[in-house]
Amino acid sequence: MGIRTRLVQVGEHVTAGDTPALTPAIYETTTFSMPSAAALQAYQAREREGYFYTRYDNPTVVGVEQKIASLDGAEAALLFSSGQSATTHTLLSLLKAGDEVVCSAAIYGGTHHLLTDLLPRLGIEHRFVPVDDLTRADRVIGPRTRMVWFESPINPTLRCVDVRAVAALCRAAGVISVADNTFASAINQPVLAYGVDLCMQSATKYLNGHSDVTAGAVSGSTAMLAPISHMRRLIGGVLDPIAAYNLGRGMKSLSLRVMQQNATALEVARALEGDPRIRQVYYPGLESHPDHAVARAQMCGFGGMVTLDLADGEAAAFRFFDQLMLIQRAVSLGGVESLCSLPTLSSHAGLTDEALALAGVSRGMVRLSLGLEEADDILADIRQALG
Ligand SMILES: *Cc1c(COP(=O)(O)O)cnc(C)c1O
Repeated sequence: MGIRTRLVQVGEHVTAGDTPALTPAIYETTTFSMPSAAALQAYQAREREGYFYTRYDNPTVVGVEQKIASLDGAEAALLFSSGQSATTHTLLSLLKAGDEVVCSAAIYGGTHHLLTDLLPRLGIEHRFVPVDDLTRADRVIGPRTRMVWFESPINPTLRCVDVRAVAALCRAAGVISVADNTFASAINQPVLAYGVDLCMQSATKYLNGHSDVTAGAVSGSTAMLAPISHMRRLIGGVLDPIAAYNLGRGMKSLSLRVMQQNATALEVARALEGDPRIRQVYYPGLESHPDHAVARAQMCGFGGMVTLDLADGEAAAFRFFDQLMLIQRAVSLGGVESLCSLPTLSSHAGLTDEALALAGVSRGMVRLSLGLEEADDILADIRQALG
C-alpha cells in the first residue's frame, strides 16, 4: 500500500465497538465500563490488552499510534503529551544509574537540558560528541555507553549525520540508537529502515502540521517499546484523545505537505544563493552545503527548513525579521504557515560568542520554516525584507 493511502486509511477504524462512521470516534472518556468481574479478570489475564482506563490506553490514541507506526515502518508507536515527554519517557525507561548516554553535541535544546539538568540527579551520565565524530566508534562508544541519541538534519545549520553509519556502530557495540527525526519525518528519511532502534519525533511539528497540537511519538519494535509503554503508565505523560484525533487528521496530508515544502524550500534556497546580502544559504539540498552528499544518500527530499546567514550580521537579521510581512515571526516549525525565528534569540539564546561559534551559529542567522504558500510569494517577502 502506498504511503498516501496508508496515511489516510491506517488507524481510522479502531473503535471500542461497532461504528459505521467514516472518520474515527473521539473516545473522550477516562474509563471503560466492564460488564462483569469475569470480563475484568479476562482483561488482567490478557496482560491488560483492551481498554480499561485512558491513562493506560484509549482507542482514539491507539488509532493514531497505528498510523505513525505505519508511516515509520515500525512494529508499533507510542504517543505522548509533547515531544519532550516522548524524550523523557524514552530516556528514563531505557537508562539506569551508572549508564552513559552519548549525544550529538548539536542537538535540540530541550534534549540537551534533560541530559544536563535531569539525568545527573539520577546518576545517569552523558557525554556530548561533535557531529563530525558521530560515525567514529572509537569516539562514540565507551565502557558504560548504553544509548546514542542524535538528530538529522540539525537546527539551525541543517548539518546531517550519516544515520546508517551511527545505527551500524551502535548495533555492533550492543548500544541502543535513537534518532530524533522531527525535522525530516519518514517521508523524507525513514530512519528505522536505516537500522536505528527507535525513532523519536515531536509530532507538534510536521506530523500534525497545523501548529495547533502539542504531541510527541516514539516508534520501533514492540520489545523495545514495552518498557517505554510501562513508563508511560507510571509517569502519565499521555496524549488527550481530542489532541490525538486532531493529530491523526493532520497526518492524512503529511506526505502532500512535506513534498510541497521540499519543493518550495529547494526553490527558495536556490533563488537566494549568491545574493550579496546573504553570506550563506544553509539547505541540505544545495551542493554548497557541507553535508549535501550525506543528505543525498539518505533523504528523499531535503525538508522545508532553510537558514540564511545575513552578510551584515545581527543588525541585518533583526531588520529582516521586523520587515517580514507574509512570513510570521514565531518559533516552532513544520506548519502550513511560513515562520521565521532568530536562533540567537530562541534555540541558542544566551550563548556566548564562543559557544555560538562551536555550534556553527552566527548572529546574522534567520531560520525559515516554509509553509504551503507559493514560493513566489515567499521569495517576494524575503526580498523586500532584505531591503
Ligand atoms: C520541537 C522539538 C522537540 C520537542 O518537541 P515538543 O513537542 O516541543 O515538546 C524535540 N526535538 C526537536 C528536533 C524539535 O524540533
